[in-house]
Amino acid sequence: MTDVKGSAKKDQIIIFDTTLRDGEQSPGATMNMQEKFRLAQQLTKMRVDVIEAGFPIASAGDFDCVKNIADNLKDVQIAGLARANVKDIDTAWEALKKGFNPRIHTFLATSDIHLKHKLKMTREQVLELAVSSVKHAAQYTSNVEFSAEDATRSDLDFVCKVFSAVIDAGATTLNFPDTTGYAIPDEFAGQIRYLMENIPNIDKAVLSVHCHNDLGLAVANSLAAVNAGARQVECTINGIGERAGNTAMEELVMAIRTRKDQHDVTTNIITEQIHPSSRMVSTITGMVVQPNKAIVGANAFAHESGIHQDGVLKERTTYEIMNPADVGLSSGNLVLGKHSGRHALKDRIASLGYDDLNDDDLQRVFTRFKDLADLKKDIFDEDIESILMDEVLRIPNTYELVSLGAMSGNCTLPTTGIKILVNGEEREGAGLGVGPIDAAFKTIAQLTGTTCKLLYFAVSSITGGTDAQGEVMVRLEDDGKVIVGQGADPDIITAAAKAYMNGLNRAAYLKMKKQS
Ligand SMILES: [Zn+2]
Repeated sequence: MTDVKGSAKKDQIIIFDTTLRDGEQSPGATMNMQEKFRLAQQLTKMRVDVIEAGFPIASAGDFDCVKNIADNLKDVQIAGLARANVKDIDTAWEALKKGFNPRIHTFLATSDIHLKHKLKMTREQVLELAVSSVKHAAQYTSNVEFSAEDATRSDLDFVCKVFSAVIDAGATTLNFPDTTGYAIPDEFAGQIRYLMENIPNIDKAVLSVHCHNDLGLAVANSLAAVNAGARQVECTINGIGERAGNTAMEELVMAIRTRKDQHDVTTNIITEQIHPSSRMVSTITGMVVQPNKAIVGANAFAHESGIHQDGVLKERTTYEIMNPADVGLSSGNLVLGKHSGRHALKDRIASLGYDDLNDDDLQRVFTRFKDLADLKKDIFDEDIESILMDEVLRIPNTYELVSLGAMSGNCTLPTTGIKILVNGEEREGAGLGVGPIDAAFKTIAQLTGTTCKLLYFAVSSITGGTDAQGEVMVRLEDDGKVIVGQGADPDIITAAAKAYMNGLNRAAYLKMKKQS
């Protein structure tokens, strides 16, 4: 297909985002209902075509999250995952049915290794089950996706046979996943071409890919597949996901856009929303983006070498292949301070992806902003994000910190005295520790009677300057589930206590959701 000065319309790649489903399978990336909804809103704003909101049969909490998103977000297809059986598909549909053009995404393995060891089924049985499941799903909606799990290690002729049969049964999207992250770009493109050539009715469906990054090739494999004829790519923001993660949406989208000469396709993505989306995902999941990460890392557009800096100052394109503004990085971001008004704050919050706060939320954020501005001179985006995290993505708090006093130094026994509310009832205590943070955690553990295990603890400063807020991230384990807790405060001991209590609150909330 030739693109003569835009006269021929380029094919559009369907961007299927699975940050909320596969992305959530990253260890420690559990998100609650409010967080998932907020993220889904942001994904809609960046115009992804399909949002995979979850796996409804997995738990009552997952079901509610998918339903809440399907019921309330319009203009975007919401997908729910279901194994190839009637109960999974019925449950998925129950969650999805009020959505706008909702999609049932059902899957079944096709590789001999999965058939033999996991499913204990023959190829004939798999073919039959795939067809009957798709038929069942197609009774509910014409928007049915079928995935051949572990496709890259399957016999391709068998995949062709299954795909052809499920198209006849009503599947409109066929996904060819590299479940184990084993594929190499040339080989993967060859497999896609083979499918395009050997499935007689392939023109009736969209071929999709879903790549894992175990060899660091998820984006490369997805691009190779696009050039071979795939028209849907499944991906996540920041590339989060099971093990080494999934195809990073921002890298895929910017590669297609920056090298349009190499790809006869486009996407609907509003690239200016990339940065706010990336920040929102890392704030919510507590999974920090590595500084050298392409497109969204802190150093992605930083020029350290003098020669490069000089070049960019003279002419940006000497060393920059992309304009930072195109991915939503505005240079010369004005810093807010004590005298900034509600309007300036509202504008800034909108640029961070929160442009639809109600008056109550906005008022709470504004009050916190003013309190913080009394303590420190410059308020950066990161400061505002930490306030939004607390005030907008709120969950009901079982535990609340009332006050904390700590004594530390090199000649004193570190002691912390703490007062908290447990379901509104006041409790207080004091404890000793190796340091004041250790003393605070021990005291909180005692006051709450928690059985959560502390796996990880990290302190960093949100921004530069000695008046910067300390930001603490903790990872807790509760009943085998990993939970992230975050807290920020100009006082790092208070920040640590807040993070710990945030983690405990999230653990309590998850338990509550599970029971309901
Ligand atoms: Zn996956």
